[in-house]
Amino acid sequence: MVQADIPAAPAHRRRMALIIAGLGVHLGLAVLVNTTWRDAVVLNHFAYVPLVLAAVWFGRRAAWLALIPGLAPLALSAANLSPSPPWTDAVRALFYLAVTFMAGLLADRSRAHEAAASRGERNLRNIIESSLAGVAVYRDQRLRFINGRLIAMLGDPQEVTASPDAVDTTDSPYLGRSIWEFVHPDDRAHIEELVARRERDPSGGLRYEARLVAANGRTIHADIASYAIEFQGLPSVLVSVYDVTRLREVEARRRELSAMAREQADLLVHSSRLAEMGEMAAAVAHELNQPLTGIRNYARNATYMLEEDAGSLDEVKENLVRISQQVDRAARIIAQMRALARRSETERVPVQVNAVVRETLEFLDSQMRLAGVEVRRELDESLPLVLGDRLRLWQVFLNIVVNARQAMEDATERVLTVTTHHLPDQELPVVVTFLDTGKGFDPEHAEKLFQPFFTTKGPGRGTGLGLSISHTILQEHQGRIEASCAPGQGACFTVRLPAAGVQEYPDCAIRAATRETREANDGPG
Ligand code: ADP
Repeated sequence: MVQADIPAAPAHRRRMALIIAGLGVHLGLAVLVNTTWRDAVVLNHFAYVPLVLAAVWFGRRAAWLALIPGLAPLALSAANLSPSPPWTDAVRALFYLAVTFMAGLLADRSRAHEAAASRGERNLRNIIESSLAGVAVYRDQRLRFINGRLIAMLGDPQEVTASPDAVDTTDSPYLGRSIWEFVHPDDRAHIEELVARRERDPSGGLRYEARLVAANGRTIHADIASYAIEFQGLPSVLVSVYDVTRLREVEARRRELSAMAREQADLLVHSSRLAEMGEMAAAVAHELNQPLTGIRNYARNATYMLEEDAGSLDEVKENLVRISQQVDRAARIIAQMRALARRSETERVPVQVNAVVRETLEFLDSQMRLAGVEVRRELDESLPLVLGDRLRLWQVFLNIVVNARQAMEDATERVLTVTTHHLPDQELPVVVTFLDTGKGFDPEHAEKLFQPFFTTKGPGRGTGLGLSISHTILQEHQGRIEASCAPGQGACFTVRLPAAGVQEYPDCAIRAATRETREANDGPG
């Protein structure tokens, strides 16, 4: 049950004294009026002043006081001092009692309402103060309310040491300050636009992220929700603010670290490519030697014909054309080496896998011939484009073919069959297989082949990184690489890739496909 508030003791005593004095005056006057003037009309009404005052101050309990002016005329009647008949004194006493009780009842009710309202407000304030969010209310772009959490967040120098619960937010120096003092200058235009939008349409809530500036100048990344409310009877805006600075800092650090990791991975891919090229240096020197020898021979021929007048002009011309062809060939080999040695950002463009397979085989052609390996190609011309990095896919194929050549060094039959298939029903429909007739691998090594630094080659021959990097490259392409080997037979490596959604990249596809066709003719550069 709601109890009426009892005023503090001195005020209570003062009020009681005033009421008793009023009633005393009434009784004194009663005696005087009844004995001397014999007319009590004014006197009767005077009693209502202290009684109603008592009812307003003390509620229904004040009804007891009505007995004082009510019983006094009856006592005078009993002493034959009252001019009026006893029943009128009794009715008057009842009126005093009823009026005092009713006034007291109304006063009690009104006080109970006030108490309930103020308790509700206290509860609400406690909820807002203990909330994990910083809460503020603004009107006319000035702060009208701010909770302790937000004060702690914004860190007023005078209050920052206090705990959020201990801060008296009703008298905060923040109140009345402009909201723009706390908004980061770079985010102001954006928030001004949101505030204007809220003013145009106050319905519904807004959720956005913005930077705030604390009292000490620190930038706070805040997740903010705002709603239009009525506060102190006026339309206002309630904002709840979550400090997400730590989260954003961690995210930024994570982004930085993953950029560093990507950079390191790129370096590794590149270093492994360089290592691969180092391994191929002898073969490449041989490769270059061929056109150079050709050039020398054709040049000697032409010189001899001219000096000795031994051939026709057409024959001399034919030698010069051959020299030009050999120069083109040497240039193409050098261009391919340069492309492989180049360090570049990972691309995601539509790539023709058949073209990459052809480039790889052409690049290794004389190596394979020198090693006595017959290369068979079965390329499916209906192969769709894949989205990826041509140079990296080239690196994967190069590594598989070089491994196959090395695995077939001691074999009597040396055949590498490279096949491409389009399997439209599969999740990864672009399939490239490399089947060799080499020594194969131990089934127990199958799991380890793609682990970094796993190699069965002697020191100086293998780094054990080729297949693990190929695996990473294919993961980047949302594809995969598998190795299989039947006992007594060579190894089979299968690369599976997703098809590019060409309809989503029509311009890009056309550009890349055109470039590949050109490069397949000219050689990469
Ligand atoms: P590396 O070639 O430097 O050893 P790789 O990661 O390319 O590193 O290959 C790892 C291992 O996988 C090789 O050492 C070899 O044992 C095995 N391997 C790769 N390709 C073949 C193949 N075609 N036949 C048999 N074994 C293979």
